[in-house]
Amino acid sequence: MADKTVQFTRTQIEEIAKKHPTPFHLYDEKRIKLNARKFTEAFGVLDSFKEYFAVKALPNPYILKLLAKEGFGGDCSSMPELILSERSGIRGEDIMFTSNDTPAKEFVKARELGAIINLDDITHIPYLEQHAGIPEVICMRFNPGSWQFSNVIIGKPEEAKYGFTRQQLFEGYRVLSQKGVKRFGLHTMVLSNELDESHFIKTARMMFELVVEIHKETGVRIEFVNLGGGIGIPYRPDQNAVSYASIANGVRREYDETIGKAGLAPVRVCLECGRVITGPYGYLITEVVHIKDTYKKFVGLDATMANLMRPAMYGAYHHITVLGKDDKPRTETYDVTGSLCENNDKFAIDRELPKIEVGDYLAIHDTGAHGHAMGFNYNGKLRSAELLLREDGSAALIRRAETVEDYFATLDFSGLARF
Ligand SMILES: *Cc1c(COP(=O)(O)O)cnc(C)c1O
Repeated sequence: MADKTVQFTRTQIEEIAKKHPTPFHLYDEKRIKLNARKFTEAFGVLDSFKEYFAVKALPNPYILKLLAKEGFGGDCSSMPELILSERSGIRGEDIMFTSNDTPAKEFVKARELGAIINLDDITHIPYLEQHAGIPEVICMRFNPGSWQFSNVIIGKPEEAKYGFTRQQLFEGYRVLSQKGVKRFGLHTMVLSNELDESHFIKTARMMFELVVEIHKETGVRIEFVNLGGGIGIPYRPDQNAVSYASIANGVRREYDETIGKAGLAPVRVCLECGRVITGPYGYLITEVVHIKDTYKKFVGLDATMANLMRPAMYGAYHHITVLGKDDKPRTETYDVTGSLCENNDKFAIDRELPKIEVGDYLAIHDTGAHGHAMGFNYNGKLRSAELLLREDGSAALIRRAETVEDYFATLDFSGLARF
């Protein structure tokens, strides 16, 4: 069972909302830090382990700096993410550039920063050489296709647009060696929001066996293996969080049996998790504006799917706490909606909740990753603020809310007169 209690009170939120109007995303600094430390400690059983936080999950410089202080790097896949990492103090090989369909200028920027470039395709080798030159260290993304391990098929990678085939990978290491590359990495990402620990261990086994084969066939020694992100979180109260230690110890066992036995140690093991690092420690805080009773009962919020797209986009469950009413019986059934002119703008459908009144504050859980970041402006909806709940209980504004002026910033109304 996942703990879905909140670490703040209604009174506390009312105080914060006086200064920073709802809706806003609120991130719990203390719990993000504690979680980062737990993560680092568990995966410390692996040789010189490194986590590159997936910047796309929560692209805020205050969060990136906080995580950098815990020893995390940044995993980037676009120009703004590269610049954001740089400006947050994440530099050089602490940046992993895992991109696909990559524009030349992003390769150039990644090289300028000294980031580790993770190539997505064999044709990117000449493309990189032409536009940015070949660096001394390079990584390649492997797509295992319909490959099976212990009769377990991991996802449907052959449908995915990412990565090199097995043959292309071997070819890639040969070609890059000839071009003078000295240090090599191997990457894959085949899991997403996965709560089954064994899948990570099997993926690691597949990758470690590949490291041994690559050495045998091409003579290339892999310096680091990046197992991607994809560790899931228990969005539903009846789900359980993964055990970092079980995954880490399982990966360590596979490492010893493959890389260790082949005499290829040490190989640095890396992850680029986003969701599991910050996801559970963020909340969308929103106020109830209307209660509507027609064919169903609707709770109308001041937040919309523009602030949190996952429920509308994937039908994803996000737990909801009605602040100050956590101990009340769940006697009502509501659709919890936003004001966007799309009928799928619903945070919950037929959710059993305590009786809600206008003016109540709701905390929508698990918005700390792929939450604010997936926001958009459709229907003239503005992105919300982001606040950091400090360890002393105060709230720091780490991104202000968008204004109507921001929304119009790319328009030049003065041109209308001449049109
Ligand atoms: C999105 C992404 C991640 C992070 O995924 P999480 O599910 O947030 O852990 C890591 N690596 C790559 C290449 C990604 O695209």
